[in-house]
Amino acid sequence: MFFGDDEEFHSDLADEPQLIEAFARRNLELSRWPDGAVCPYCGKKTNVKPLGGKSMGDGWYHCGLCRRKFTVRTGTILERSHIPLYKWFLYWTELSPDISASELHKELEITYRSAQLMIERVKRHLIHGPAEPWWVNKQ
Ligand SMILES: [Zn+2]
Repeated sequence: MFFGDDEEFHSDLADEPQLIEAFARRNLELSRWPDGAVCPYCGKKTNVKPLGGKSMGDGWYHCGLCRRKFTVRTGTILERSHIPLYKWFLYWTELSPDISASELHKELEITYRSAQLMIERVKRHLIHGPAEPWWVNKQ
């Protein structure tokens, strides 16, 4: 369970999309990088620092070795998608993998096109075996 079994916690968060998003991001970061952010370009973490500032948005890191910026989405099936992270999480944790695009569109209150994109990406991911963690994005 993504949100845990704490009903009160769940309902408190329901009105705070930004908090839910931050919570989802933190969970994704911890599952991908249990020992701290790792640069997806050079694979090192020695010079990785979080980037602050409102203009960047949340969740950005900078690698001092290869001088590139990244987020937890970089190099994954979540890359270049405007769908909030918590909606991806809801899809994985709460909904059937066989859900149709029109059902997903209604459940997550996203466009039909976004629902198709999510299903497409997750299917492409699963072709390589469900044993692969979510951040492995083979073409
Ligand atoms: Zn790097």
